[in-house]
Amino acid sequence: MNLGSLLEKIKPFQPAMLEVLEQLVNHESPSTDKAALDGYAQMIAARFEDLGAETRLYPRPENGAQLKLSFRQNGVAAGKPLLLLCHYDTVWPIGTIDKQPFRIEGDKALGPGIYDMKASHVMAEFALRGIIDIGAQLPRPVDVLFTSDEEIGSPTSRELIEEQARESEYVLVLEPPTAEGALKTARKGVGGYRLQVEGRAAHAGSQPELGVSAINELAHQIIYLQSLADPEQGTTINVGVVQGGTRSNVIAANAEAEIDLRVWTPQEAERIDSALRGLQPVAPGVKLSIRGGINRPPMVRTEAINNLFRKVQQMGEGLGLKLQEGSTGGGSDGNFTAAIGVPTLDGLGAMGDGGHAVHEHILISHLSARTALLAAILLDP
Ligand SMILES: [Zn+2]
Repeated sequence: MNLGSLLEKIKPFQPAMLEVLEQLVNHESPSTDKAALDGYAQMIAARFEDLGAETRLYPRPENGAQLKLSFRQNGVAAGKPLLLLCHYDTVWPIGTIDKQPFRIEGDKALGPGIYDMKASHVMAEFALRGIIDIGAQLPRPVDVLFTSDEEIGSPTSRELIEEQARESEYVLVLEPPTAEGALKTARKGVGGYRLQVEGRAAHAGSQPELGVSAINELAHQIIYLQSLADPEQGTTINVGVVQGGTRSNVIAANAEAEIDLRVWTPQEAERIDSALRGLQPVAPGVKLSIRGGINRPPMVRTEAINNLFRKVQQMGEGLGLKLQEGSTGGGSDGNFTAAIGVPTLDGLGAMGDGGHAVHEHILISHLSARTALLAAILLDP
């Protein structure tokens, strides 16, 4: 397959891609709005059915449906499919579009969720459209999962993602690349915990000796938590939320903290997790309880992931792309698939910047080449 001619086929799609992208951005899809999410999933299902995909919706009682699309072209060699992962929820509440409408400014297309990751949905569709248009044959089955809850930790999609990944040759995650355009071959693991401290209330003036301050205890625990971090290994612990107490003249009976953990290795995940579970009170009479755990295991750059990256990097050269590899402290659904041993390459979405921020945008001039790259991977024997 001549990659140059694939790119020439996809370039003229650009106006149509932007048109579809505008529709997708205008259909807002925050992680917590079931009706909006279900509507979005149906819209995507219809678009891909049009391309000949078999679609299957997995409804969720309180969340948006998960959607699986399968391409089994006539005559396609049987074998393990290639799995594409897209999430279709965003961090933006309904109504954001009124303040930050879809718009084009120079080379930028802006709008809520455009970069993370609605542009990726358009790329997946038009990569397949390009393949069909040139009459090429997919060398292996292709499955695409559109999931509804990545931005809230994938509680109702994780099982399906892992189940599909286990049956697949490898996994491509259509999260955006780094701001410099690098693909992602490693991601930190992510943990989330809530530490609750129970002390004993008392009058701060007349009977302070009868009280045990949950706030003082929490302060000690927070200092201890900081000592567990290991910046050299990339292990970070952030106490991002604390609350407790009722009034300044009452010794606080309760306090709690929300903790974010990031680690590069399963060993570090285990070290911190067991330390958190083994926390001991400093003050007598205090009760500590910890909830939560490792939500996304680290995506470790294995030999298989490295090989996959090298292969894709070479394809990039055929398209005039100099692809670098990068890593990030942020998790994605690729963490799940990599952790169960399925080679996973992440960051195959659109070039741009500002995910989860008001300046969220993609770069239009890179859209064709990145879409052609995706098509090239799908066509690679
Ligand atoms: Zn994302």
